[in-house]
Amino acid sequence: MILLEGCRVVVTMDDAGTELENGSVLIDGGVISWIGQGRPPVREQPDVVDGRGLVAIPGLINTHHHLYQTLTRVHAQQGGLFDWLRELYPIWATIDAEWERTAAEVGLAELALSGCSTTTDHHYVFPSGVIGLLEAEIEVAEQLGLRFHPCRGSMDLGQSNGGLPPDRVVEDIDSILAATDAAIQRFHDPAPGSMRRIAVGPCSPFSVSERLMRESTALARRRKVRLHTHIAETLDEESYCRTTFNRRPLELLEDLGFLGPDVWLAHCVHVNDADIRRLAATATAVAWCPTSNMRLGSGFAPAREMIRQPARRGAPGFAHDQGTQGRGGDDCPPGVASGDPRRRGVPRPGRRRLDRGRQARRYRAFCHRRADASRRGGGSGRGPRLLQSGSGAAPLRRGKTRGP
Ligand SMILES: [Zn+2]
Repeated sequence: MILLEGCRVVVTMDDAGTELENGSVLIDGGVISWIGQGRPPVREQPDVVDGRGLVAIPGLINTHHHLYQTLTRVHAQQGGLFDWLRELYPIWATIDAEWERTAAEVGLAELALSGCSTTTDHHYVFPSGVIGLLEAEIEVAEQLGLRFHPCRGSMDLGQSNGGLPPDRVVEDIDSILAATDAAIQRFHDPAPGSMRRIAVGPCSPFSVSERLMRESTALARRRKVRLHTHIAETLDEESYCRTTFNRRPLELLEDLGFLGPDVWLAHCVHVNDADIRRLAATATAVAWCPTSNMRLGSGFAPAREMIRQPARRGAPGFAHDQGTQGRGGDDCPPGVASGDPRRRGVPRPGRRRLDRGRQARRYRAFCHRRADASRRGGGSGRGPRLLQSGSGAAPLRRGKTRGP
């Protein structure tokens, strides 16, 4: 039993926004069992940690990341998403377990040092014959003590079949499904307070076949694990979906059965009102990744429109990509990324929020102008570096250390 005693303020992040001056937090068996002022209502004498001068907040939750990209930061900084991917796929094709371990050590340590207590990782590069990738990052997370929800990601649509990645970094469907099922059975722990849960994460519409999306969905639901993918990240992707599937990205996911309360989606930048209603009606969650989106100059998710959906009540869920998704490098180092309280400050209602909203609208309009201009110019332009201050909206699932 541990008592974090006499903090300058305890930020509870409850629905009322309660903040306790001179507050204390009691931790019993790895669970916060009491928050209040004065002595906790227990007979046992806890181990005391002096909280004087400190602000206590719930652990931050990072809902989208690619740890392996930690070792390839600042490559292809001139490119939009597709150019960036095309330049990096051949480098990522050389990944091995040592790479993955080193990247996880750096990436997870960065997250822990910035206040993150739970993170996911979306790993989808599994070159033929390379083993131990998922195992390496799971081992590192366990060593560092982070609650970890890695996705067993996948790509099966190589260039020869009309996809974006080179054939040597994609797998065949049967291998993917077998490896994903094996990972779930070996590593997934569904118990309350679990430190490790596996999710199923086919990568994106331009690197995964419809069949793999459907079969991944079926596998995840059969095994009762969550589903994750990238969607509606750029206008290039939207154009790809319209051309290839004759549907918008969210329409495609709906047709594939890839929406629901067990799904969280990265990005959702280019969504219209019907898409947002679709997300709300299916209780699908959204991971907000503004630093990554701004690096690409591709806009960012219409967070307020999503939050205002009357059907929401927790959905579409909305949370941070605290990491930099490998694109950050010099632009947005972890530790001062979007979820960091040192930048965000203690959340307060009123003027500060209004100012942020106005600022976010202005930046959003700017991003969309940039995206439109780059589309007219036939390619994605360099991302606007100045947009980092557009970060900082609070996650909807505030303070809950549960799955992303
Ligand atoms: Zn991503």
